Amino acid sequence: MVNGMAMLIKELLKNIKQCITIDYPAGTWPGKKYSQIVPYGRGMHEFDEEKCIGCGACASMCSSKTIKLIDEEGKRTVSIYLGRCIFCGKCQDICPEEALKLTPKYELANINEEKLYVKNSLNMVKCESCEKFIFTEKQINTVKNKVLENLKPETKEKMKLDIEKYLKLCPDCRKILSFKLETHPRKLY
Ligand code: SF4
Ligand code: SF4
Repeated sequence: MVNGMAMLIKELLKNIKQCITIDYPAGTWPGKKYSQIVPYGRGMHEFDEEKCIGCGACASMCSSKTIKLIDEEGKRTVSIYLGRCIFCGKCQDICPEEALKLTPKYELANINEEKLYVKNSLNMVKCESCEKFIFTEKQINTVKNKVLENLKPETKEKMKLDIEKYLKLCPDCRKILSFKLETHPRKLY
């Protein structure tokens, strides 16, 4: 009993003299170094709002289905819910515009669920024929530029006119137009 008390007091005195907890998750203990937050650590996502075109490639790649595209009132919102995220980084790798990155921010616990969402909103354009919202403005411009940049100058001008005509339409109206103009591939066989 006396021995037990002596050991307890000794242990208490020892713990008063030194810290017994470490800072999560990158703390140090005298003589030891624990885990470190590395600059390339995979934590909370961050959008580069200038670069993101709202294409949805990140959403289609996410195996946790935690990235959603929400089209509402002329806006597309790319919404990531961190509560389901496994921080695999596939969304970052697939992004064609290098507009999404996982930052080393690891401290995500919050009583406000809204804080677990990372979002980016973009303007959409309407189909010129049926007036349904189709794609984002940035997506259309990017596709146009990417197609044209690889064409020879002699075909570029003609393609530019065609692209502008078709890209302003939704897929259904595009099909109708191509049948009217007799350019739909099905007309060829
Ligand atoms: S983050 Fe990248 S992949 Fe995701 S919608 Fe934006 S541009 Fe597309
Ligand atoms: S890190 Fe992985 S799980 Fe998280 S949003 Fe990106 S693809 Fe989905």
